[in-house]
Amino acid sequence: MPKYIDAFMQIIRSAGFQIYIVGGPVRDMLLNRPITNWDFATNAKPQEVLKLFPDAKYENDYGTVLVPLTTDIGETTIAEITPFRKESTYSDSRHPDTVQWADSIEEDVVRRDFTINALAHDGKNIIDLVHGQEDIKNGIIRAVGDPDKRFTEDALRLLRAIRFASQLSFTIEPHTLSAVSRHAEKITHISWERIRDELLKIITSPHGADGVMMMRSTTLLKYILPELDDAFGIDQKSPERHHQDDVGTHSVQTLRHTPSPDPIVRLGALLHDIGKPDTRAVDERGITTFYNHEIIGATLANQIAHRLRLSKKDRLRLVMLVRHHMFSVSELQTDKALRRFIRKVGLENVDGLLDIRTGDRVGSGVPETSWRTELFKKRLVDVQHMPFTIHDLKISGHDVMEALSLRPGPEVGNILKKLFEMVENEEIANEKEALMKALKVLR
Ligand code: ATP
Ligand code: MG
Repeated sequence: MPKYIDAFMQIIRSAGFQIYIVGGPVRDMLLNRPITNWDFATNAKPQEVLKLFPDAKYENDYGTVLVPLTTDIGETTIAEITPFRKESTYSDSRHPDTVQWADSIEEDVVRRDFTINALAHDGKNIIDLVHGQEDIKNGIIRAVGDPDKRFTEDALRLLRAIRFASQLSFTIEPHTLSAVSRHAEKITHISWERIRDELLKIITSPHGADGVMMMRSTTLLKYILPELDDAFGIDQKSPERHHQDDVGTHSVQTLRHTPSPDPIVRLGALLHDIGKPDTRAVDERGITTFYNHEIIGATLANQIAHRLRLSKKDRLRLVMLVRHHMFSVSELQTDKALRRFIRKVGLENVDGLLDIRTGDRVGSGVPETSWRTELFKKRLVDVQHMPFTIHDLKISGHDVMEALSLRPGPEVGNILKKLFEMVENEEIANEKEALMKALKVLR
């Protein structure tokens, strides 16, 4: 237990209140995982906590007070301290109808979602009313109490079960798991923002691919990404082709093997072939084809991004990744073509596309890379040392006007364009002296 946490709890106790570390941090302490946020439960009311900590802020409906703390190594962190709450009724599968405060930590912990999240710590001892420590030891996600009741109260818990299983590499206890399937349809009561947050946590977690498979087996996937759900069972076996898996399974395998931790790149990996179900055809030789699936796929990815309420920037990145995942690594492409590729997809998407390619290859059962891919990567770096637009030339419009005694006008631009072309075609170097010399000849 860090000293600053101990000291913080001591201040509240000295004022005559109870205080417990609760939920996530207790779980993560027992798992030896880094603690990202410190949550506390107390019998002090928000106003009473505010009196003790002048820097604290009180800002939500649940009575949570945010207290800035200085850690033992001098960093700032925020403690969240919430009054004990008790069970209340939920009529919308989303929010409790009222927030009711409770007198004891015991009432507070039993309203929590899973046993591993229902532990409290008073600074010395752990309070464990639901065998949470045993479930942590055995790696089990188990609803507190009756799973049917818990998922009916709040349907976000359906996804949270899969999220914790994916993050912690735990298994979902059978009664809890069958209740997830039974109540899957209730996920439609939850806002897309909250669904998105859980989905992105699932696909960026160590067992994200297994998490997506759990979403499928419990039918949650059908409500969240129906396009991907439909891709399971779309056969792509064909003579002379390497694909063995159906499109859905291949998509999940691609996610599994995509190295990037970036949530949008990982979503791109999962959705890269999302246009295949709509474009599948079999030609006269019996070969299965998916012509233009990346174009249809980009349209579907755009729709999915809107549904998941991604920011505009993230949506455009996702669309780019799906649209261009078929990029060629042929060694026959000119430097000019490579530079055009970078300009088209955006430099910020190049690494993501390469990572999806790695995932796509390994996910299809072919070696992680090839000499062609490695050469392509090397050339991508090399061609970036050359100018991308006229503005990158080591000579300006002013230089042109001065050297040739020209007035401002279209001719200046035309000369710059010609110079740029010569640089791009490697006829001259992008150096001032060489450009000035070429200028004289152009005239
Ligand atoms: P992390 O912050 O690492 O994602 P966490 O367990 O702290 O994990 P939070 O969403 O921050 O998760 O929630 C804090 C605690 O509040 C949980 O540990 C759990 O005890 C409780 N909790 C959160 N969401 C719910 C919910 N939907 N239903 C019941 N209890 C919940
Ligand atoms: Mg938390």
